Amino acid sequence: MVETMLMLAVVVGGVALFAGLVWWVNWRIYGRFPTFEQYQCLHPDSVKNGGCRCHMCGGQRVFLQHLDGELDRRRHICVTCGTVLYRSRT
Ligand SMILES: [Zn+2]
Repeated sequence: MVETMLMLAVVVGGVALFAGLVWWVNWRIYGRFPTFEQYQCLHPDSVKNGGCRCHMCGGQRVFLQHLDGELDRRRHICVTCGTVLYRSRT
C-alpha cells in the first residue's frame, strides 16, 4: 500500500514537473519577442498610420501563429522573410 502511494506520488510529481517545463519553455519562447508597443518604440518607421511593416524586409503581409496550448498568445510573423515581429494576446 505504501509502495502504491509512493508510486502514485512519483508519477503525479513527474507529470506536474513535465507540464511545468512545457509551460516554462513556451513562456520563454513567447517572452523573447516584444509587445506591439515595444515594437513600435524599437522600429518607429515600421509602424505608421495604423499599418505595420516588417523591420527586416519591409514586407506588409503578416500572419498569426498561436503558441501550442496557449490559444490567447500569438506571434506576428512576416510572411516574406519569416521574422517574428511582435507578440500579442487576444
Ligand atoms: Zn520580413
